[in-house]
Amino acid sequence: MLNHYDYLIVGAGLFGCVCAERLTKAGFSVLVIEKADHVGGTCYTENIEGINVHKFGAHIFRTNSKEVFDYIQQFAEFNNFINSPIGIRDGKAYNLPFNMNTFAQVWGITTPKQAQDIIEAERKQYGVANPSNLEEQAISLAGKTIFEMFIKDYTEKQWGRKCSELPKDIMRRVPLRFIYDNNYYNARYQGIPVGGYTQIFIKMLAASDVVLNVQYNDDQEGWNSKADKIIYTGPIDEFFGYRFGTLEYRGLRFEEKIFDEPNVQGNAVLNYNDWSVPYTRSIEHKHFEFGNQPKSIVSYEYPTNWKIGDYPFYPVNDEKNDNLYKKYVDLAKANPNIILGGRLGLYKYFDMQDTIKEALSLSKCLVEAI
Ligand code: UDP
Repeated sequence: MLNHYDYLIVGAGLFGCVCAERLTKAGFSVLVIEKADHVGGTCYTENIEGINVHKFGAHIFRTNSKEVFDYIQQFAEFNNFINSPIGIRDGKAYNLPFNMNTFAQVWGITTPKQAQDIIEAERKQYGVANPSNLEEQAISLAGKTIFEMFIKDYTEKQWGRKCSELPKDIMRRVPLRFIYDNNYYNARYQGIPVGGYTQIFIKMLAASDVVLNVQYNDDQEGWNSKADKIIYTGPIDEFFGYRFGTLEYRGLRFEEKIFDEPNVQGNAVLNYNDWSVPYTRSIEHKHFEFGNQPKSIVSYEYPTNWKIGDYPFYPVNDEKNDNLYKKYVDLAKANPNIILGGRLGLYKYFDMQDTIKEALSLSKCLVEAI
């Protein structure tokens, strides 16, 4: 440990680790502190029974950016896994995302024109010109049948709110296409790191000093005195002692089960699109790496009402929260030595590729600023 560092990075998640790697590579000294007992944040994987278990939910890497993909491939080899989840509704299996396979299963049709005509008729009947919430947006895009079968219950389970009370932008994440293609993501590069994600973070942090199990917010001044600049990737409202109020998040709870059989669900990801099952997804981890171990591990993902102290998984980017976030950002501007980043610091529903892009661009600015 040094007496003083160029940078203190609070949080050893993806954002913090990419910054640490870039800054140490450029010759800066970096101290990374983390309140959990592991690095990698929610991307953390653990090897159990020879299977790399995504301890905080499925993380499937994808990006359209060659720069981002080239960058991450320095730290692991990526396989050719394609995410093709199965949706379970009323005990029946359907292909996701919404594509010709789904439409054929729902309506018994075969051509894109047949599917387009049905969806167009449903959209017309619904007649909302300018959708203002998730429900209106979903029906305007996919029609009422798809909304009611696959979106309504799943979304209300996931977010604990009515679809009519959720921001419409969430729907941007779900593809709808009139070809027979079950690939969930419209991304050019996709895969899972062979051997899990944790190795990536360990390599990224190799040239930094790292302290786990410490709460930065319990002694901000003490930690700040250890470095010239701080990159803070924790929740922004917690940083400011919640002085304007608490930003809302959605929480998750995972139940993990080890099975004495090699193949439990036949696919890495199953979505549960009705209320008869209380969890939203189940993940059979071995399928991410085409594993042939004799046992299998499945995690069941239960959305929870988040409260202070729980891990904040999903920012709820509605108007109220986004306005509150802006108030905290204005406060942060008063101290240019503190830089906010990541899903929690920026209060944005970032995927891994977005997080890496942001971290690379921040690090570049910091390196070029000298
Ligand atoms: N969604 C849905 N039905 C599904 C899958 C997703 O209605 O079968 C909606 C739901 O509102 C969810 C959003 O799409 O919150 C984003 O889903 P995604 O799978 O991208 O969520 P993440 O992987 O980020 O948890």
